[in-house]
Amino acid sequence: MEKQKEELILELINALNNRDLERFREDFFEFHPIDQIEIFLTLDTEQRKILYSFISPREFAEIFQEMDLKLQKDVILELEDNYLIEMFNEMANDDLADLLEELPPDSIQKIIKDMDIEEAHEVKSLLTYAPETAGALMTTEFLAYKSTDTVASVLERIRQEAPDAETIYYLYIVNELDLLVGVLSLRDLIIAPLDKKIEDVMAIHVVSVNVDTDQEEVAHIIKKYNFLALPVIDNLGTLLGIITVDDVIDVLEEEATEDFAEISAARGAVDLEISPLVAARKRLPWLIILLFIGMVSATIIGRFEKVLETVAILTIFIPLIAGMGGNTGTQSLAVVVRGLALGEFDKEKVIYLLKREAITGVIMGTVCGAIVSILAQVIFGGNLVLGLIVGISLFFTIIVASLSGTIIPFIIHLFKIDPALASGPFITTINDIIGILIYFSIATKLLKFL
Ligand code: ATP
Ligand code: MG
Repeated sequence: MEKQKEELILELINALNNRDLERFREDFFEFHPIDQIEIFLTLDTEQRKILYSFISPREFAEIFQEMDLKLQKDVILELEDNYLIEMFNEMANDDLADLLEELPPDSIQKIIKDMDIEEAHEVKSLLTYAPETAGALMTTEFLAYKSTDTVASVLERIRQEAPDAETIYYLYIVNELDLLVGVLSLRDLIIAPLDKKIEDVMAIHVVSVNVDTDQEEVAHIIKKYNFLALPVIDNLGTLLGIITVDDVIDVLEEEATEDFAEISAARGAVDLEISPLVAARKRLPWLIILLFIGMVSATIIGRFEKVLETVAILTIFIPLIAGMGGNTGTQSLAVVVRGLALGEFDKEKVIYLLKREAITGVIMGTVCGAIVSILAQVIFGGNLVLGLIVGISLFFTIIVASLSGTIIPFIIHLFKIDPALASGPFITTINDIIGILIYFSIATKLLKFL
């Protein structure tokens, strides 16, 4: 099967090279747009030029709008002005708005000026919404009908209007003022008697979001209800657009990448395409802050200089205690950040999680503490007290670290900062300090037995 596809692609490219328009079109349109993009990517500039002349702007729009933004930006440089404008006219206007947002203002103005007036108008209004809100995410190409329409008349109109709609699966019902009053799925419509009024078959409790709603919230709602699309309204309840599930998948991916970047205290630095200089600039401020916090542990160690002088062997275990504190905290952090990103926490769950982390900490602390105290004795000549000092310290460090790894992200979340900002390095550094404090406090107490 796969081999057959490869052969087809080879034939296709041959047809392109031989300027065999009919043959090329026949084979090319057998593929899904995503496969078409893959084929497109194997072409050189010359071959791409031929391709643009073989397929219409309307046809290319279907492929183009599935490309990622970076590729789109490269491709528009290759297209003739007329072709480009014609393609923009045919694109889904939310996809087009996403692209235009990435371009410099003067080229946006030029493009919008030449576009079809109605399309331009819709794209322009989409561009006025704040980024990462429902408004910026939605498309205005939805199907809306009146509650007094009959099932038969709506079915007839869908036949005509479907080609231009983003999705035809949900039909939204508005009143004379364009306020959203109902919804039904295509299935609901098809199984309804033809002479019924829409108001008799529609659902009236419509779940919707405001244009200003954050995109993460939008994603949660779509996920909660398992919708394929969600209507977007203004403060008065006017239906403005819809958000489809495919755009929400992109949002979830975006947010996951953001959260991931913030865990490593390097917002934006996980992007593969940025230069070393930019990457360093994003990461350095965090490292410098952490450097200062790290100085605190140096100061603590300094204060215990006397103890260390008398019992130098204590020094050996500092990295171990500090490191294990950091490791434990990062494990807990991962659980919380993931839950917060998915919006899974209420008060009960938080309390449950804290209890669980405390008990987990006790179990892990006991096991690791026991292991290390035995190892410390075996390796350093059967010194029971040294083993106890290290073992007990590790026990408490692990408990405190798993709790701080859980609590810190919640506290940061309460301050309305993105929870993921309670980044791994911070927890590590703070747990280092806690670990060292515990270690030296216990060491000082038991010192006289050493
Ligand atoms: P199937 O499950 O086979 O795909 P369906 O008709 O059950 O078909 P769903 O996508 O499961 O379609 O939608 C379930 C119901 O949710 C439909 O009856 C639809 O009218 C309703 N619905 C869709 N969008 C909304 C919304 N925004 N608010 C409230 N109800 C909605
Ligand atoms: Mg269903």
